[in-house]
Amino acid sequence: MEPFNPRQFLVLVVDDSTNNLRVVGTMLDAVGYITAFATSGKEALERVKVTRPDLILLDLMMPEMDGLETCNNLQLNPNYREIPVIFLTASNNKDNLIQAFERGAVDYITKPFNDLELLARVKTHLELKHTRDELRKALADLEKLATTDPLTGIPNRRHLLNRGQKELSLARQGDRPVSVLSIDIDRFKSINDTYGHAVGDEALKVMVDATLKALREEDSFGRFGGEEFLVFLPETNTKEAANLAECIRRTIAEASVPVAKSSVLQLTVSIGVATYWCDGETIESVLKRADEALYKAKNNGRDRVVANAADWKTSSETC
Ligand code: GH3
Ligand code: MG
Ligand code: MG
Repeated sequence: MEPFNPRQFLVLVVDDSTNNLRVVGTMLDAVGYITAFATSGKEALERVKVTRPDLILLDLMMPEMDGLETCNNLQLNPNYREIPVIFLTASNNKDNLIQAFERGAVDYITKPFNDLELLARVKTHLELKHTRDELRKALADLEKLATTDPLTGIPNRRHLLNRGQKELSLARQGDRPVSVLSIDIDRFKSINDTYGHAVGDEALKVMVDATLKALREEDSFGRFGGEEFLVFLPETNTKEAANLAECIRRTIAEASVPVAKSSVLQLTVSIGVATYWCDGETIESVLKRADEALYKAKNNGRDRVVANAADWKTSSETC
């Protein structure tokens, strides 16, 4: 991690005494913090909006809106809740301090201020916040890495199957069908052989973008492996799924992959459709049926959609 650099942090100091603001401001400026000031709770809330401070030094006793009420207001806003608040207090009144911690304060400093103590507490809480933010970011990056296909940016196999499992269990609860599309690019090997692997990669991205255009927000689309993709379509019967699959097939056929300055490549896909009718079937068995339909589409000449006859139950929307 980078060494601590006060210049990266903005500290908002709130006190109705301008003399206190000057004293604290001078201490913070001397070590390089960026500073902002407010002389009332109301003004502090305005300054928070504009400056987005990394830490707030907040006077406990102020006329009109006191420190506790100001802190309360900050806690109510999810955007500001995480900003550490250190109370500045002249009193050693334990009741007030307990209330301050209950309202979300992380620490307090008693007046008159000791320079080193104030700077040490500010630094400690900024470091804690910084570490927490970095950890959150790292966790989000890790989560993305673990769930996303790096080439196309859509869910990878594991994440896709987890979503599929969830869709099946929601379908069971709601007694609604889920349809599955198994999509495979036609003669993809020959695209790689003819134009090279980089164009093959580009073709995968184009195919994914085209599919996303045709899908609805609630659909779960992901890369199952290689040039095979799956879509889980919640609350969708076989007929509706076959229509959507046909729309995907056409959108992909209309898209083009650039292969040289003036030439482009068209792609086709074959799509197998299967429907889960809430009858306790496993995800593996639904996927197997979608795969069987896909193979029929390949055997019948590719560039087409096939749904297993056994799946059609078009008369009813429910299971
Ligand atoms: P079919 O119409 O029967 O599906 O034929 P196909 O050539 O598409 O199927 P096959 O399974 O024979 O070949 C798939 C090819 O996809 C082989 C593999 O090298 C290629 N492939 C898999 N993943 C990637 C990838 O990430 N990038 C590229 N460029 N090619 C890939
Ligand atoms: Mg293929
Ligand atoms: Mg294949």
